[in-house]
Amino acid sequence: MSAQSYLSIGNVVKKFDQFTALNDISLTIEQGEFVCFLGPSGCGKTTLLRAIAGLELPTSGKIVQADKDITFLPPEQRDFGIVFQSYALFPNLTVADNISFALKEQGLSRQEVQAQLHKWLKIIDLPDSGNKYPSQLSGGQQQRVALARALVLQPGLLLLDEPLSALDAKVRTHLRSEIRRIQTELGITTIMVTHDQEEALSMADRIVVMNHGVIEQVGTPQEIYNHPASEFVARFVGSMNFIPQHHHILQSVTLPTIGQTAALRPENITLCHQQESNANIIACEFLGPIVRTTCYVDEELTLLVDLPSDHYSQLGLHIGSRVHVGFESDKIQLFMAEAA
Ligand code: ADP
Ligand code: MG
Repeated sequence: MSAQSYLSIGNVVKKFDQFTALNDISLTIEQGEFVCFLGPSGCGKTTLLRAIAGLELPTSGKIVQADKDITFLPPEQRDFGIVFQSYALFPNLTVADNISFALKEQGLSRQEVQAQLHKWLKIIDLPDSGNKYPSQLSGGQQQRVALARALVLQPGLLLLDEPLSALDAKVRTHLRSEIRRIQTELGITTIMVTHDQEEALSMADRIVVMNHGVIEQVGTPQEIYNHPASEFVARFVGSMNFIPQHHHILQSVTLPTIGQTAALRPENITLCHQQESNANIIACEFLGPIVRTTCYVDEELTLLVDLPSDHYSQLGLHIGSRVHVGFESDKIQLFMAEAA
């Protein structure tokens, strides 16, 4: 573990009876980073976050925050703020009281509490909502209050467990940038759990992709998307076409090892009319800037192909069009075939 990292997780194992929820997790997080734990439901994201918060104690391993071994410290002796998916605001307290509750417990004077409250209501862009009750706010507004409440004691670490998952799509994308703005302004080290790959790609400095209690890959969004380390990551992040190794469409490609799977992103495949056709468009989905087409090659292979929308119209394509699907062989990615 590097001595300078803000948070170091070393060989953490968490068992629930016979079941291993975290299997030898090691990870370091730097001061000021925004890191996402990404993976399918049940892969251990929340368990890892709760271990960092002290809400769950590891079976073995070590967690160090700001050079202090916190592995077995109770939550109240740790330095973090946390926001959950469901708005855990006190329903019988006003927004102002929800936010300033912890400040009052610290014994701050009335003026100091008022000043802090004013500051935080402004940061979360709800300057006039102090007297409202949680039930009078939208879901997105409630999550902003929960964020202020988590941050008001200026913790060194912000933990977010699917904070946007209960919100509708438009609020969710707006709050993504709001959270990033506040996080950047404060420079606070942040870990956010999500199962939404798009959310992780758009928000994180680094993504930790998890599966079945292990880390599959750690990297920047670009690294994860462009160079997935495993077939699992390739399938989970973005869309990917998988091509059977013996398929004739791979004729021109040299596959070095037996037992590998070839994969191609939809945007790395081209469609044209000029050459001999080898596929049929069987579906297309207009997504604004791109059209996602489904191209049937044969019973073994159906490919997703993304085309810029204007290109799609220029070619006069439609369902039923015969087309030639092509690709540059250097766009092919190879993975060791996964045991089913
Ligand atoms: P995620 O947040 O990635 O959806 P969790 O960390 O909540 O996943 O859970 C990981 C696995 O551990 C799941 O299979 C879950 O059922 C199991 N698990 C979590 N908490 C407990 C618990 N308190 N007792 C038993 N099993 C648990
Ligand atoms: Mg979870």
